[in-house]
Amino acid sequence: MNENRISLLDLTEEELKQELISMGEKPFRAKQIMLWLSMCVPFDEMSNLPKALREKLKERYTEGYPEVETELISRDGTRKYLLKLSDGSLIETVLMDYSYGKTICISTQVGCPMGCAFCASGIGGLKRQLSSGEMLGEVLKVNSILGEGRNIRNIVLMGTGEPLLNYENVVKFLRCIHAENSLGIAYRNISLSTCGIEPAIRRFTEEGIPLTLCLSLHSAIPEKRRKIMPVEERWSLTDSVKAMSAYMEKTGRRFILEYILLKDFNMGKEDADALKELLNGETAHINLIPMNGDTGPYSAPSEEEISRFEKMLEIRGLSFTRRRSLGQDIEGACGQLRAKYIIED
Ligand code: SAH
Repeated sequence: MNENRISLLDLTEEELKQELISMGEKPFRAKQIMLWLSMCVPFDEMSNLPKALREKLKERYTEGYPEVETELISRDGTRKYLLKLSDGSLIETVLMDYSYGKTICISTQVGCPMGCAFCASGIGGLKRQLSSGEMLGEVLKVNSILGEGRNIRNIVLMGTGEPLLNYENVVKFLRCIHAENSLGIAYRNISLSTCGIEPAIRRFTEEGIPLTLCLSLHSAIPEKRRKIMPVEERWSLTDSVKAMSAYMEKTGRRFILEYILLKDFNMGKEDADALKELLNGETAHINLIPMNGDTGPYSAPSEEEISRFEKMLEIRGLSFTRRRSLGQDIEGACGQLRAKYIIED
């Protein structure tokens, strides 16, 4: 078997057409193959392709689907998958069942370079980038496990990794999953979360991809943010917020800030004041996320502490919602499952 076979999931339909033409095949086969790939069907079962073509494909390519190493199902219905890639790397993908449809949370890198103090994904640093086909594989594999058809309605790029530091592959993935002969997911049903890589947000604004961009803020006070997020040393939160505003202006999408609630750290009056000042009338929405898990020196606040902070935001006229914590019984927080496996290895 040819060891250098490339994965078909890494190709756009146009690129696949070119490959087929160069093999002396008809370009219309690209659409057929794309539809099979979107259902995670192996070459041997692509029943409308001639046998000779299937053999040729097997020789030169792999389909590119990941293998399921572990599946955990939570009491609340959340499912967590540990997926194995062709080089043996393990990544996490989480499926959440919200009232508005099934939402998948995918990883964008193997490991993460950002080193946020509360996050298990950063333990061990960045191992490597995920290709566009590997990200596509996360969605298509889980979608196919759920049965025939387009089961997954929403995608969030909020798993392990910093999507804007894997820029080209992430943009290619977004275009591929949006394509008609893949799952055809609407951009308005996709959210991308970033620590705030200001130049990449500016570049992304020019791509013509109107998704929901979320900024992981976690503190509106630079000195405090620096303590928990090393990214603040390089790209300041004020510059990132400005870049986010420009994206919102161009796309007309909502401005989302994510804010982890850390006990005795970022939930005081000065924190609420700083948020108000940072937003300065901007119509942003704040997602409050109670700390999940036990990475680093931080812990989850009490219900009372959360309500007190919510009141402070309310008084200041800020728009917010508290994110429900799902999958707590299955290592639901970012990178926890993968971290556990790596430690036990
Ligand atoms: N690197 C990007 C994408 C990861 S998104 C980013 O930081 O935005 C993952 C989201 O989950 C981020 O908002 C992250 O800060 C948050 N998160 C990480 N660890 C968490 C924890 N232990 N509890 C709650 N939220 C966490």
